[in-house]
Amino acid sequence: MPENTSLTAGTLMKGKRGLVLGIATERSIAYGIAQVVAAQGAELAVTYQVDQLAGRVTSLAKGLGASIVQLADVQNEAHLNQLFDTIEKKWGGLDFLVHSIAFSDRTELDGPYANTTRANFLNTMDISCYSFTDLARRSAAIMHNGGSMLTLTYLGGERVLPHYNVMGVAKAALEASVRYLAVDFGHRKIRVNAISAGPVKTLAASGIGDFRLILRWNEINAPLRRNITTIEVGNAGLFLLSDLGASVTGETLYVDAGYHIMGMLLEKGALETADLLNNIKAEKTARAQRSGT
Ligand code: NAP
Repeated sequence: MPENTSLTAGTLMKGKRGLVLGIATERSIAYGIAQVVAAQGAELAVTYQVDQLAGRVTSLAKGLGASIVQLADVQNEAHLNQLFDTIEKKWGGLDFLVHSIAFSDRTELDGPYANTTRANFLNTMDISCYSFTDLARRSAAIMHNGGSMLTLTYLGGERVLPHYNVMGVAKAALEASVRYLAVDFGHRKIRVNAISAGPVKTLAASGIGDFRLILRWNEINAPLRRNITTIEVGNAGLFLLSDLGASVTGETLYVDAGYHIMGMLLEKGALETADLLNNIKAEKTARAQRSGT
C-alpha cells in the first residue's frame, strides 16, 4: 500500500473557518492537516510561537491562503487574548481548532522518568496538555454553530516507550482532557477528538533520543510495514474536522500504520529489528572509537 502524499481538492470544508496552532516547518504535522483542510476549502488562522519564526510561518500560511497569521505562545495570556479578539472581530466565530503543540526539556527525555524535575513536569504539562484545555474553552466560546476540535497525541501516552518519559504523562492527561471536553461541549454540537500519530521526522521529534531507530522500528513492525505521512494525518484530521465525522467525539484515532495493535513482534520483524539494533550498536562503537571515548 503506497504512502499518501498527494492532496485531494474538494469542498468538504467549504465555509468553515479554523484556527491551527503548531506549524513550525513544512514537516510539521499541523502543516499536513492545514494543507488537507485548505485544499477542501477551509479558511485558516495560523500562529507562530516566537517572532523569529514569523517569516517562515507567514510564507507557509500564504501558501495555505490563511487570512490570519498571528503570534501566539500558548503560555502567554496576552497573545491568546489578542488572537481570539482578532478571530472574533474578523470572522465573528470559529468552526474548528487544531492543536498540534508539545514541548519538554529534551535532556529529561533521556534516562529514567523518575528523574523528571518539578519545573519540567509543570512546564511540559502546561504547554503540551493544559494549552489544549485553554484553547478549547476560548474556541468553544466563539463556536456559535457547533464545531470540531482536534489535538495530537502519541502511543507513549498509553504505553511506556523509550525517550518519551514526561511527554508520555502529558499525552495521557491530554487524552483524558479530550474525553472531558467532549462531554463539556457535546450539548453545543462541538466535537473533541485526538489523533495518535505514528512517528514523523519533525522539529519536535528531533528532541527525542534515537529517533532514527524509532522510525525504522515502526516501519519494520507496523502491520502496513511503513511509516506515515503528514498528509495521511491530515486526511484523518479532515474526517474528524468535517461533517464526515459528525457523530465521533471523545475519540483517539490512530494514524500509525497499525503499529499500536501489535502485542509482540512477528518473527520476520524481530529478525530485521535485531539487524537494525546490531547496525546501530556498531555505528555507535565506531563513533566512540573515532572520538577516543
Ligand atoms: P513540530 O513541527 O516541531 O511542531 C511542534 C509545534 O509546537 C511547533 O510549532 C512549536 O513551535 C510548537 N510549540 C512548542 N511550544 C509552544 C508554545 N509555548 N506556544 C506555542 N507553540 C509552541 O513537531 P510535530 O511533530 O509536528 O508536533 C506536533 C504535535 O504532534 C505534538 O503534539 C507532538 O507531540 C505530536 N506528535 C508528534 C509525533 C512525531 O513523531 N513527530 C508523533 C505523534 C504525535 P516552535 O517550533 O516555535 O517551538
